[in-house]
Amino acid sequence: MKILIAGFQHETNTFSFSKANYMCFKIQDSWPPLLKQQEVLDQTKGTTLPIAGFIESSIKDKETQLTPIVWCSAEPSSFVTDCAYKRISKIIIDGIKNNPDLHGIYLDLHGAMVVESTDDGEGNLLKNIRKIVGYKIPIVISLDMHANVSRDMFKHSDAITMYRTYPHIDMHDAGKRAYEAIKYLINGGKYYKAFEEIPFLIPLHMQSTMIEPCRGIYEYIKCIQDEYNKWAEFATGFPLSDVSHCRPSLIYYSNEKIPRNNDFNKLLQSVITLRSEFNSKLYLPNQAVKFAKSFNHPVILADVQDNPGAGAASDNIEILEALISLKVESSLVGMINNPEVAKIAHKIGVGGKFRAKIGSKFNPDYTSLECKFKVISLSDGKFTFKGKMYKGIRANSGMTACLSIDNCSNIHIVISSVRCQALDKAVFTHLGLNLNNYKIIVLKSTVHFIDDFQSFSKTIINVKTDGLATCDLRDITFKNLNKNIETNL
Ligand SMILES: [Zn+2]
Repeated sequence: MKILIAGFQHETNTFSFSKANYMCFKIQDSWPPLLKQQEVLDQTKGTTLPIAGFIESSIKDKETQLTPIVWCSAEPSSFVTDCAYKRISKIIIDGIKNNPDLHGIYLDLHGAMVVESTDDGEGNLLKNIRKIVGYKIPIVISLDMHANVSRDMFKHSDAITMYRTYPHIDMHDAGKRAYEAIKYLINGGKYYKAFEEIPFLIPLHMQSTMIEPCRGIYEYIKCIQDEYNKWAEFATGFPLSDVSHCRPSLIYYSNEKIPRNNDFNKLLQSVITLRSEFNSKLYLPNQAVKFAKSFNHPVILADVQDNPGAGAASDNIEILEALISLKVESSLVGMINNPEVAKIAHKIGVGGKFRAKIGSKFNPDYTSLECKFKVISLSDGKFTFKGKMYKGIRANSGMTACLSIDNCSNIHIVISSVRCQALDKAVFTHLGLNLNNYKIIVLKSTVHFIDDFQSFSKTIINVKTDGLATCDLRDITFKNLNKNIETNL
């Protein structure tokens, strides 16, 4: 049983400030750099990536032979350039052409990739692969739960498995389930399948599976799973991709003909009925800081709209300004992306002081803050994530520095040179910072931080700043969204 495996991931925020070119896929950021052939097996081993789960499951079957081609991802941003898309797709397509004796293909994809000249990066890739292999061999894909699953992705794959947690602490499981599905198909099995669109967008901060309504929906999905014979997936969607297939969706696979009024229909009806539950308040920076000060235990302020993990610039300083003006004691803000300031801090060294401006670097519409900083600690930005989601994955935030503001020494700010979502405590602890010293932590992250930071605090306040990872969907003017999809819950 010879299976070709490859991975090509990008979550495209079409409202973001910069495109993903080939270099963005080549470099190491929160995820590994571009890996080729044997590197895919060697360098994903022991990580939580879907492809690592697939590889791990295949090892127990002696007759399975994997042909690894490529694996790459880029930090969420605006469109993938045509050049990068063509170059990476060609590596996968050539790999398939060079291996005419394949029994199956597994792809580790995201599901919300928008390319300069193609709205549906994954669907287009699958269509092109079918042109080579036809329907003679199965294609199984795993997707992020933030996928905007298109009709082409559904049509040109034989089975789709997806993450079922946000924070994504089960990426590995999606790869494992993909392996079982492809094994069943290669051995002559067949899946009947169903697909339904959900007629409203869900803001990212309300897609968390640690709270209702998603927690209950995914519990039901777990209940209706029958091993690899029958399962459902709920793609909560990525609302920041302005394309016609942007919306949540449900998919269902069964080894038997799908009857009417089955579990899948019940799931569809329950998601639609829960519509108004997907809305929740976002606090403005001053409101949020005042509210946080009212607690007598530590609090997390989630800067959800400036989350680099959803394509934002990660340099908005509105919450920092509120901390300063409301004289908050002992707080930590991270990570603000500003390579120039990080470089100066490294040049001056720990204990040194310098004047600089932060904020508005990537978006001139943001407010900025110019003041004197003191260097608290420094790192080369190379560290290993330790939380459940990214455990074992090597990070690279570039030259990184922890600074304090000269006349507010109790406010610490972590500055990075590469955009990196603050979803893992290692973002701070690798700089020697002790989180117990802070009363308020400001994280540029949406939901992903909840798992690893719950030991710091379970009190989370979602804050609305002027960032490009918009969670208040009323603020977005969509041009390409299907007219039947509601954005105002
Ligand atoms: Zn995701």
